[in-house]
Amino acid sequence: MALMTPQQFEESLKNVKPRVFMNGQRVENILENRNTRTVVEANKASYEWALDPKYKDIMTCYSPLINDTVNRYTHVSTSVADLVAKAEAGTFTAEMLGTCIYRCVGYDSFHSLYATTWEMDRELGTDYHPRFLEYLKMVQTKDLSVAGALTEPRGDRGKKTVDWDDPYLSLKIVDKNKDGIVVKGAKINISGAFGSHWLNVLPQAAHVKGEEDYAVAFATPVDAKGITYICQYTPNSAERDQAADMEELGNPLYGQRETSMVIFDNVFVPWQYVFHCGEVQYSGKFVTRFAKTHRMTCGGTCKVGFMNQIIGACRLIQEYKGLQKATHINEELMEMVVLRETCRACGLAAAQKGAEEPKGSGVFLPDELMGNVSKLTVAPAFWRVMALAGDIGGGLIVTLPSLKELKNPEVKDYVNEYLKFGSDTSAENIMKVTKLLQNWAAGLHGVATWQGAGPLMAQKIMLQRVINYDHEKWLVKRTLNIKD
Ligand SMILES: Cc1cc2nc3c(=O)[nH]c(=O)nc-3n(C[C@H](O)[C@H](O)[C@H](O)COP(=O)(O)OP(=O)(O)OC[C@H]3O[C@@H](n4cnc5c(N)ncnc54)[C@H](O)[C@@H]3O)c2cc1C
Repeated sequence: MALMTPQQFEESLKNVKPRVFMNGQRVENILENRNTRTVVEANKASYEWALDPKYKDIMTCYSPLINDTVNRYTHVSTSVADLVAKAEAGTFTAEMLGTCIYRCVGYDSFHSLYATTWEMDRELGTDYHPRFLEYLKMVQTKDLSVAGALTEPRGDRGKKTVDWDDPYLSLKIVDKNKDGIVVKGAKINISGAFGSHWLNVLPQAAHVKGEEDYAVAFATPVDAKGITYICQYTPNSAERDQAADMEELGNPLYGQRETSMVIFDNVFVPWQYVFHCGEVQYSGKFVTRFAKTHRMTCGGTCKVGFMNQIIGACRLIQEYKGLQKATHINEELMEMVVLRETCRACGLAAAQKGAEEPKGSGVFLPDELMGNVSKLTVAPAFWRVMALAGDIGGGLIVTLPSLKELKNPEVKDYVNEYLKFGSDTSAENIMKVTKLLQNWAAGLHGVATWQGAGPLMAQKIMLQRVINYDHEKWLVKRTLNIKD
């Protein structure tokens, strides 16, 4: 069976040596650095669940490509049932981790790469698709973790890519030879790539003739020569660096969420891993098919799991404070549940209404309308849930003393007495749950939810393309017997 154990996954990462920088320093070992370690732990959990009888149906599926059971996060959906299972896996992993499963962007990019290489070969006579299939077979057989990179720094958005003063603000092909291509530029905000084995790269800025050097998609080992990761560093990262005990943190094992800039300084990619090279008319298809898949995931699936963590913490705090009969708090909890279920419904509808695209390819993608509606619904809903959590959790969410005080002989008795709120539980438990809420309501996930899978305007643009109001106009004319 093509599944690694969590231990094998960790061992496998010892052979991957990405060049990583964080907080002004080189990270020599991503398995040991406290912040990069959270990515390893999150991905590692996906290997554990795949082998756990309780969760294996969520985390694994059958791949006809290698005629074996594979981790779902290496699979390409070939039916509506696959899309629904994908949506459910997104919720499951998010609620279990309380952060991102870093194999998700790679998973979604497989869909785009599969569909678009198939279409290009058919229409242009290229041989990208068999190359991609060989790569995907390798990923499935070796059970690799794959991240995905699309977003770029980009230059003046009012100008064409080719008119930017710095041509490398979008990833550019700078050389081609008989063995492969060489690329230069950067991708930004990339989730967990340094804790993966491979990275799928999609184009972003190639739209029109003349931008062929930016029309590029490929896969690369994350430690290929010339690739550098410059990691985010936030107050949460600093807090993790300083913690005496990980239990002091809002999400001890899996952390907030980790991204990095990925620099490609003349990186060589052998032809066997190049899936798009210069065919500018297809670049947009790579992007929109990825976005379509990712908006279902980032919209109605993973944030549903995140909301479950927030709702659970709010309910606990309500009980610890003896507020079970407070009507407005019960209403706020109910509102959170309604928002969560609305988002879940959008995600599942995007999956249920999914279809084969392109026809004959065998790839199923979520419904465009519902995928975008999903993301547009979840972004404000998530902020609302965080606001409600702020009300229920009280000011302590942002005024909480360090959990270190519980071990400080000079003040621990005060903290134990005054933060127990006369409850049956300990001050430590109340502080831990409040810390988890701080992680959400005063953490990174609000902006991450808004921007992940594209800012809201991007979804509105896609909606404008698919909505034409013909059916609605026809209905009114039919009702009123208008003939024109
Ligand atoms: C936590 C997190 C994880 C992420 N993980 C990944 C990942 O793994 N892989 C990946 O590829 N990407 C990832 N992203 C990137 C994400 O998709 C982008 O952040 C998002 O698409 C927005 O792009 P941007 O950050 O460059 O913001 P911008 O594009 O600068 O957007 C900022 C604002 O400017 C507006 N704007 C931008 N361009 C134009 C224009 N031409 N005309 C009018 N208005 C414009 C936008 O609508 C928005 O309002 C991640 C992002 C976050 C926050």
